[in-house]
Amino acid sequence: MQPSIGHSCGVFGVYAPNQPVANLAYLGLFALQHRGQESAGIAVSDGQTITVIKDMGLVSQVFDERKLASLSGHIAIGHNRYSTTGSSSWQNAQPVYGSVGDEGFALGHNGNLTNTADLAASLGMLPGFVPPKSAVDSTTDSALVAELISRAWPVERRSDGRELEIALEAVLPTLEGGFSFVLMDDSRLIGARDPHGFWPLVIGRLEGGGWVLASESAALDLVGAHYVRDVQPGEMVVIDATGLRREVRWAEPEPKLCLFEFVYFSRPDTRLYGHTVHTARQRMGESLAKQAPVDADMVMPVPESGIPAAQGFARASGIPYGDGLVKNRYVGRTFIQPSQKMRGAGVRMKLNPLPENIEGKRLVVVDDSIVRGTTTRQVVKMLREAGAAEIHFRVSSPPYRWPCFYGMDTGQRSALLAADLSVGEIRDYLDVDSLAYLEIDRLTAATGADAESFCTACLTGDYPVAIPDADAKMLLEPIRRELETPSPIDAP
Ligand code: SF4
Repeated sequence: MQPSIGHSCGVFGVYAPNQPVANLAYLGLFALQHRGQESAGIAVSDGQTITVIKDMGLVSQVFDERKLASLSGHIAIGHNRYSTTGSSSWQNAQPVYGSVGDEGFALGHNGNLTNTADLAASLGMLPGFVPPKSAVDSTTDSALVAELISRAWPVERRSDGRELEIALEAVLPTLEGGFSFVLMDDSRLIGARDPHGFWPLVIGRLEGGGWVLASESAALDLVGAHYVRDVQPGEMVVIDATGLRREVRWAEPEPKLCLFEFVYFSRPDTRLYGHTVHTARQRMGESLAKQAPVDADMVMPVPESGIPAAQGFARASGIPYGDGLVKNRYVGRTFIQPSQKMRGAGVRMKLNPLPENIEGKRLVVVDDSIVRGTTTRQVVKMLREAGAAEIHFRVSSPPYRWPCFYGMDTGQRSALLAADLSVGEIRDYLDVDSLAYLEIDRLTAATGADAESFCTACLTGDYPVAIPDADAKMLLEPIRRELETPSPIDAP
């Protein structure tokens, strides 16, 4: 998959008195960096005050020793953002901070709501209208949720301090679409997932005591936590000084985990539905070799996304595995795109062929998916120029034909290569000798999990949650408040 396609975001939370929670959140976000590279942020509570630091860029660019040292406390949440609603700008970075009187809370959201317009209208947030006394500090649907929480906040201050979870129990059932939340007030860490559980969220236990919430199980390993269980679809969990205090099923679960977590999003060392992602990706390649065999001299991946499936394809076909492309590991989203004149250099900065491995060979080239197809086409061109005799392209997922409304940013349907083209037409467009996509049944079988437990909407058009009439993206943009000069430190 091309790196230009938006991932869903990464969220992390930690409750650990007497431990450096900001540093743990930093490590957790570092492990989840692949889920969003536009902005990063951490909110920390010391029991009195919630402090938020967030900025544009990678986790390692946003935080240094000095900033982390300024975040002392016993609870932290963190967020890596890839914009799926609102524009890519500082005020849309997360965690989002909300307040009611002198009580504060912070929120990190992975996913995308589908009833944004209805929710905004329910708050009187129509374009051009700025709600008075709004606690919203950004234009994302996540900020809308923060505003809903503020409005559902119990009027009377409670002796048990459970205002946030009570407000959430009122707000969560009004939300539609995909969401895995981490939230905190001054003394509680809360996690919640939508009833379909589109995006993963796991609970871990720290070796030195304390609790962790994370988008992926691999992030637990990095902070020295062990996996306890998933936050279930339709569940809210509350962690405080007494431990995992509340496990609330606020909606009937109907699991539909994003199938692309197995195909592309998740780290290979993450486990989903009890199965390791790397192994599942290798099985996808094996299945692809059986479904669409071909005579060839070498199986090679489009690095790095196609590596496990190419390994599986080679193993099942008996065709030797080799490297035909070298990836520059240091080209991130901050890479300045070359001018029109230097266009060809764009892909070459990321991928460069190894002619001595390619020349005169019949190649099987494996990638995990093709979304827009522009990078794939350029890769094929490079391989031909490097002397490939034949190119047989194999994709370890079905054609990506429908846009995602639950948290992956693919843009309009017209931007999707397979939206209106047949496989034969795509083969001609890419200029390959043959092309095959893994069938959906084979893909779900390769995961090892129940086929019914996945969202497959972008591959099948079968949307588990009704999609909005018009793409809600940018809907909230006109109501952006006049903000003071953005500062990387948001200390409410
Ligand atoms: S539409 Fe596709 S990318 Fe979006 S949640 Fe469903 S499977 Fe994942």
